Order: sequence, then C-alpha cells, then structure tokens
Amino acid sequence: MEQIDQLECLCRQYDCPFLRSEPLRKHTTFRIGGSCQALVDIGSSEALQALVSFCNENGIRWTVLGNGSNMLVSDEGYDGVVFLVGKRMARIEIREDCTVYCEAGALLMGVARTVLEESLSGMECLAGIPGTIGGALYMNAGAYGGEMADIVVSAEYLDEDGTLKNMAKEDMELSYRHSVFSGTKRIITGVTLQLCKGTYDTIRTEMEGYLSQRRAKQPLELPSAGSTFKRPVGSYASLLIDQCGLKGASVGDAQVSVKHAGFVVNTGKATCKDVLELCDYVIETVREKTGYQLELEPVVLR
Ligand SMILES: Cc1cc2nc3c(=O)[nH]c(=O)nc-3n(C[C@H](O)[C@H](O)[C@H](O)COP(=O)(O)OP(=O)(O)OC[C@H]3O[C@@H](n4cnc5c(N)ncnc54)[C@H](O)[C@@H]3O)c2cc1C
Repeated sequence: MEQIDQLECLCRQYDCPFLRSEPLRKHTTFRIGGSCQALVDIGSSEALQALVSFCNENGIRWTVLGNGSNMLVSDEGYDGVVFLVGKRMARIEIREDCTVYCEAGALLMGVARTVLEESLSGMECLAGIPGTIGGALYMNAGAYGGEMADIVVSAEYLDEDGTLKNMAKEDMELSYRHSVFSGTKRIITGVTLQLCKGTYDTIRTEMEGYLSQRRAKQPLELPSAGSTFKRPVGSYASLLIDQCGLKGASVGDAQVSVKHAGFVVNTGKATCKDVLELCDYVIETVREKTGYQLELEPVVLR
C-alpha cells in the first residue's frame, strides 16, 4: 500500500476527513491556488500528533492551514499534505478570572462574539480579522492599535519533536507580525486569552465601530489576503503605494485595490503568478520612487 493510502487509513481511525487532490483555492480567502496531495480536516491534537508523526516518519511533506486568510498558494498547488486546523477544532471555553481557552481553529470573530455574550473586553479591535486564533497567534495579528500579544497568556502546541507542549506568552517573542511559531513546523493547538470584565453595550458598540471602519475602507467584496505588504518602519504601505499612483494597477485579474492601496485583490480569475508579478512591480516602483522597501505579508505556499 502506498504511504498516502496508509495515511488515509490512519485519518479514518482518527475520524479526520481526508480529501485527496483538494483544490486549495477553496480554502483561501484569495481564492487562488492549485491542489494539494491531500487535505486532512483535523479534529483533535491527538489526531494531529499521530498524523504528523506518520508524515515525518515516512518523508511526506506537510503544512498547516487555518482559515487561509494570509496565504497565497502557488498555481501548481502543494505537493504534500495540508492539515486543516479549523471548524472541527474550534471549541471556546470561558474559564475563571476572565480567561478564555480556545482551540486553535476557532475564528477570531467567533471568539469575539462568544466573549461579548459574557461582557468580556479586550478583543474588540481584533474581531474583524478573518483568521483562526491559531493563525492569528502564529503571526501576532493586530489591528487598530491592538494585537494578539495584548491578550494571549499561553498556548498549547505540537512541537517539532512531536510532543504536545505549553508555552507562556513571555517565551513567544511576540513582535510586529511575528511570533516564535512563525516560519517553524510547530503547530498551535490551543490558546488561552486574558480578557477583563466590561459592559456589554460598550464592548458591542466599540466592536461594531471597528467592523464598520473595515467595511468602509477595505475591499471586502473581493477576494484578497488582506494587507498585501507589511508596514515599513516609518510609513504605511498603502500610503506609499497610493503616492506612487499604483491604485488600480493590474496584472491579469490581480489588481491593486482602488478602494485601499494596501490590498491586492482578485477581480476574477487571478493566478498566483499574476499576484506575484504585480507585487514585484509595486515593490520595485515604491523602492525607486520613495526609497522604502516593501515586503510581502501573506505566506506563499509552493
Ligand atoms: C479582508 C482581510 C482583512 C485582514 N485584516 C487583517 C488585520 O487587520 N490584521 C492582521 O494582522 N491580519 C489581517 N488579515 C490577515 C489574516 O486574517 C491574519 O493574518 C490571520 O491571522 C491569519 O489567520 P488564518 O487562520 O487565516 O491563517 P492562514 O492564512 O491559514 O495561515 C497563515 C500562516 O499561519 C500558519 N498557521 C495557521 N494556523 C496555524 C496553527 N494552528 N499553528 C501553526 N501555524 C498556523 C500557516 O501555516 C501559515 O503559515 C486580513 C485578511 C483579510 C483577507
């Protein structure tokens, strides 16, 4: 039996759906990307641990996907297994002293809605980020002056040596769009947050305020991966791109949004190649005209 067939059997034992040749465009907010060898929808950390060790022992390439909102997948797809840490691993539990435990696949919006019901404050500005709590911690996601670093207490994760461990915030090296998990094979399986008691109406109004700012300023009607470039020290990517007259610039169906210059959007059938060509053009033009060096924010999966 081929190794991939053995993996499928193991997935069945752990009750994890196994989808062969799954198009990754279906799992990314950019709606771009070819297929992976197989996508496994993970239901527990124990399943993840067993399946990852099987892949490691058998030389099968693998990666992790949350909500796919910070991912650009190559047109050729990914020649390996994608472990989806999403809806099937999304339990949220309110605990004592305003702490909240979330399995890594819980969406930030789902967590924000749950804690609102308990009048817990601290997540208002993060609610509109369309990622999972695991994906958000991986890159220390943030918005409107707040970031994951403000509320995280600890995380459970599967370490590169195959053991399940706990890490306190102090050891996470959280900085702008970076954590100790970034660029590693560690998989976050659960996150504990520290919030504080607030007033339902105030939390709700604040959260709604941030969400309406997003709707007004961001091209949410078109597929994208959010801000396409990291914020350069001393300026803003969208400001520089706008100043260089690049709003509306396009390659194929990839376009610098006319609504928000910091977003590259997919206006129809954009390919990964289109997006990367457009990004190169933007980076080069901004560097020539302003001296700032922009850097891509989404993770490119090849
Ligand atoms: C419209 C829009 C608006 C956005 N606004 C913001 C914003 O305001 N602020 C902001 O910071 N970001 C923003 N983003 C980007 C994105 O939502 C965040 O980066 C989010 O944290 C990504 O989470 P995800 O679950 O979608 O991760 P994915 O895109 O699935 O994965 C991103 C990376 O994280 C890794 N990863 C995912 N889950 C795990 C896990 N459990 N363990 C280990 N690694 C994992 C993946 O392997 C990959 O390398 C926006 C995106 C969109 C489309």
